[in-house]
Amino acid sequence: MNALDSLIEALKRLPGVGQKSAQRMAYHLLQHDRTAMPRLAGALTAAVERIKHCERCHTFSETPLCIVCADAKRDRRLLCVVETPADQAALERTGSYLGYYFVLLGRLSPLDGVGTRQIGAAELLARAAEDGVEEVILATSFTAEGEATAHVLAEALRARGIKSTRLARGVPIGSELEYVDLGTIAHALSDRR
Ligand SMILES: [Zn+2]
Repeated sequence: MNALDSLIEALKRLPGVGQKSAQRMAYHLLQHDRTAMPRLAGALTAAVERIKHCERCHTFSETPLCIVCADAKRDRRLLCVVETPADQAALERTGSYLGYYFVLLGRLSPLDGVGTRQIGAAELLARAAEDGVEEVILATSFTAEGEATAHVLAEALRARGIKSTRLARGVPIGSELEYVDLGTIAHALSDRR
């Protein structure tokens, strides 16, 4: 494959980018912004080398413990379960949640081969059983798979005598948390049950 085609193929791996958009991006860079290309390549290499997962909550982190987990002043009684680091960032931006997180890095989707092992359910249960945790807030998305994930986790937590709550409705059905406005998220959080 020549260099242009392999650039287009690489760009097509990005979400929402099809053949046409990938072509447009490749031609744009080559024609109008060649200096951006080594910067982009450098940023990609640095990101893949430096950004790993937090040992405790699994979110993206350049250090073994992420900023939130390393912050001893947060509320250790609360543990909020989200699907992605982007969802976690959305909750952080509301400024209304002061507990800790656990990031599943996905949601249950048996047809895609994503089961309880892939979302780290065992690690979550161990984390939730730690001293001081009083409530696990299930903030998975309001999609069918997100709801199923919340249900399975709630059952597993209940079996271990750990209280869990779910974000209140108000977050539109079918939506990913990261795209919901902050006021709505904050509301869903305070109205959890
Ligand atoms: Zn962390």
